[in-house]
Amino acid sequence: MGVSFFETMRGTLRAKDGPEQPVEFEIKAEASHLPRFLRDGTARLSGLIEAPPFVTRAAIDGRIRISILRERIIAYVMSFHDDNDRPCTLEGTKHLTPWHPFVSSSEMDVTLRREGIELAQGHMAFDFRTLIPFLRSWTPMSSIRRLDAGQRDGAERAPILTDDERLTLRALAEAMLPAGRHVPADDDTTVAETERVLSALPGEVRRGWRLALRALDARARLRHRRRFRELSTEARYALLADWLLAPPGAERPPASLKRLSIELLTTVIKGAHFGRADYLAAIGHPPERTIAREPEPRYLQRVIEAESLEPLTEVHAEVVVVGSGAGGAAVAASLARQGVAVAIVEEGRYFRRHDFGGSPVARLNAMYRYKSFNFTLGASMMVPVGRTVGGSTTINSGTCFATPDRVLEEWRSELGFPDDFRPSHYHRYSEQVARMLQVAPGSPAALGRIADVIARGADAMGLSHGPLARNAPSCTGAGECVMGCPEGAKRSADVTWIPAALEAGAELYVGLPATRILMRGPRAVAIEARGADRNGVARTLRVFADHIVLACGSLHTPIMLRENGFTLPQIGRNLSVHPAIGLTALMDEDINPWKTIP
Ligand SMILES: Cc1cc2nc3c(=O)[nH]c(=O)nc-3n(C[C@H](O)[C@H](O)[C@H](O)COP(=O)(O)OP(=O)(O)OC[C@H]3O[C@@H](n4cnc5c(N)ncnc54)[C@H](O)[C@@H]3O)c2cc1C
Ligand code: SF4
Repeated sequence: MGVSFFETMRGTLRAKDGPEQPVEFEIKAEASHLPRFLRDGTARLSGLIEAPPFVTRAAIDGRIRISILRERIIAYVMSFHDDNDRPCTLEGTKHLTPWHPFVSSSEMDVTLRREGIELAQGHMAFDFRTLIPFLRSWTPMSSIRRLDAGQRDGAERAPILTDDERLTLRALAEAMLPAGRHVPADDDTTVAETERVLSALPGEVRRGWRLALRALDARARLRHRRRFRELSTEARYALLADWLLAPPGAERPPASLKRLSIELLTTVIKGAHFGRADYLAAIGHPPERTIAREPEPRYLQRVIEAESLEPLTEVHAEVVVVGSGAGGAAVAASLARQGVAVAIVEEGRYFRRHDFGGSPVARLNAMYRYKSFNFTLGASMMVPVGRTVGGSTTINSGTCFATPDRVLEEWRSELGFPDDFRPSHYHRYSEQVARMLQVAPGSPAALGRIADVIARGADAMGLSHGPLARNAPSCTGAGECVMGCPEGAKRSADVTWIPAALEAGAELYVGLPATRILMRGPRAVAIEARGADRNGVARTLRVFADHIVLACGSLHTPIMLRENGFTLPQIGRNLSVHPAIGLTALMDEDINPWKTIP
């Protein structure tokens, strides 16, 4: 958990023998680790400064040091570049005194330097018109960002479990994975594979997993006065069921934290065990494929990777779109085709068709947020989202429905959406989208034999049925949509709207999570994104634009707004998700999930 706040200060600067000139800065201070911030008072600064004629407007990078008790100071050091790209600094220190608490904590003398040489001195004061936004802006930085950081940290190297934990893991695997005709019994490979999967997960998930393992062991000691691994397989299974399932007659399953612990433990172990090469070969799963590289289309020249940027890069566009998924990519393409200068900023990478072969685990790790371990607390369930160019469309199942009229009416009547959302108006746009995505019912060949089973069941129950409409006209039913379509059949945003936007002149910046919205008074004027080069050295991108479109998905757009001090009452509310469950059945006929649309 970290902390952040905004501050606006104004004042004047005077060069030697020159007139007084106005100066103003708006900064955001961010400390990603609260205990460290409480210890050393240091936070990173970013923001905007205006000090004409020295600098018209420039983006700031800097530090603030708050030492209230020991040194009684608040010190600012800000670096930026002037209009001729020369490096400048503005430094100032508030000296706190108990006799004038307000003045001393809100005013300071400042010095402006260019290329290390003093240019002007002046005085600045906190802008008390911004007091309420300042007070409100003190927000804890969500741990979600820190999970992201964990994701970027890369995999921790195995071994990561202690010998004792490995023994408990083995006992757990034995209880939950009885050997079958094809399923191998758990063995050292299961433990090694589990450890490998764990090592690729974000640090928080990994720590949560180990905690859950220890909690299970502690539960065994409490109930049976024996270690979990010393219990019979039946007693171990009973302990798992106790935390996971509703007891007979009870309406609800056990408290969510217990259920979450078991789900977390078992999901990782199942992923590792059922991903074993011997198991996949035994059930006839096709081997991993290598997909040949296709020639690079010209539009890829407009894709800019974080590592190719300068440490601080500033660009200007008419519209900057943050997020390249279903929403962002379509907006960017429509605007670019109308001649608008568009920059798209995407946190994930641009995966191409040849990346959609190879290990499923590696593909999930690379293209999903938190390596696919995005889950809710409360009623614990997985909420997978994409983190790649094309957003979740690159890894979704490709089912395409137009928004139903009753939902459009609900949005208008209950949420006050404008008339553009009247069905007659709205469907003009959804039809355009359907044409671009070539939406059509899935073909019987691609639907595979599972569709016949569903049809038989529906007929027996007197229910209507039919193939879902999809955006994969040449689908072969390879069943891998949720890891990127290896056939190039699914018309996800990475192969439709994004190429259209780039061909029309848009620029796409990848590997750059946007974290800041830079404000000029009440107006958002730029976004700031931070990535890293191959050696982990920070790369900062600032895109100044007349308009900013946040299309980070329904989970992350509200987080971005809140973390940047926006406080509209509806931000973060009204989320609806549609739960999906898998159904596994033992059939007389041969039905394989890798020979059907998922
Ligand atoms: C496994 C799966 C299967 C699905 N199946 C279907 C289906 O069959 N049919 C269907 O209609 N829908 C399906 N969906 C849902 C559908 O894909 C999404 O509803 C849709 O893609 C949402 O579009 P979006 O633009 O809001 O967000 P997304 O498509 O998720 O795009 C958001 C993008 O923003 C980027 N981003 C987020 N934060 C930042 C930041 N701070 N800086 C820069 N970039 C950022 C993300 O990396 C991502 O690329 C599925 C989703 C998943 C995960
Ligand atoms: S089922 Fe296979 S071919 Fe069809 S869209 Fe999905 S991944 Fe592509």
